[in-house]
Amino acid sequence: MLNVINVHKSFNGIPVLKGVSLRVKRGEVLCILGPSGSGKSTLLRSVNHLERIDTGAILLDDSYVGYRRAGDLLHELKPNDVADQRADIGMVFQRFNLFSHLTVLENIVEAPIGVRHESRTSAEARGRELLTQVGLDGREDSYPSQLSGGQQQRVAIARALAMDPKVMLFDEPTSALDPELVGEVLAVMRSLATAGQTMLVVTHEIGFAREVADRVIFMDDGLVVEEGSAADVLTNPRHARTRDFLGKVL
Ligand code: ADP
Ligand code: MG
Repeated sequence: MLNVINVHKSFNGIPVLKGVSLRVKRGEVLCILGPSGSGKSTLLRSVNHLERIDTGAILLDDSYVGYRRAGDLLHELKPNDVADQRADIGMVFQRFNLFSHLTVLENIVEAPIGVRHESRTSAEARGRELLTQVGLDGREDSYPSQLSGGQQQRVAIARALAMDPKVMLFDEPTSALDPELVGEVLAVMRSLATAGQTMLVVTHEIGFAREVADRVIFMDDGLVVEEGSAADVLTNPRHARTRDFLGKVL
């Protein structure tokens, strides 16, 4: 479903992605591990058009997110196509990024109504279903500031799901949370995975990766240095870098 091919990206001449390739199949959960600064967020942001890659290709289903080779632009999406494709990609960030002046339900229906022109009635009905799904039944009229970090992050997940994305990207969704709130967010992510949602998850939660990931990749210094089943990568890492990292987070 998602195909990332030899992606390069530099900031101010400093390479951050140095030829990253990966594939995510429909219904698969791929966890990305790696030290801070290895390029994980840049990779996710590139998939979601928040960064423009220098060279390489990113394909969602068969449509291009971007395709460049050796600096020559071979194909670039028009702004309308970018908007369409973004609607197919849900993203959940480390910080919850909810609109603070909107209620929980207004946060969730904003894109379905504003972008997809759904009727308010059907968007709200679906929004309430999603709130039940993330365990926040009855909180539709709360404002984000009235919720805990874990509850806000679950609203952020519901908001992303409201567009029925083909793939959900999670960028360290629990690392800004107090430890006692991490479990409730991971539980929602686990249930999504079980329901067959295609997911690309950057996380330091090794237990989650071990239990939920179909495959794990380990990134270091702008490259994928290891890839395999969760058991392989987490139990028998081949590279010293991976062992080193796991030694620190486990
Ligand atoms: P990770 O998510 O693995 O911690 P990032 O993708 O956030 O890594 O960052 C990788 C490197 O790219 C870091 O050295 C970071 O400072 C740099 N970087 C990320 N975004 C920008 C930006 N917008 N401008 C300049 N440098 C950036
Ligand atoms: Mg990051």
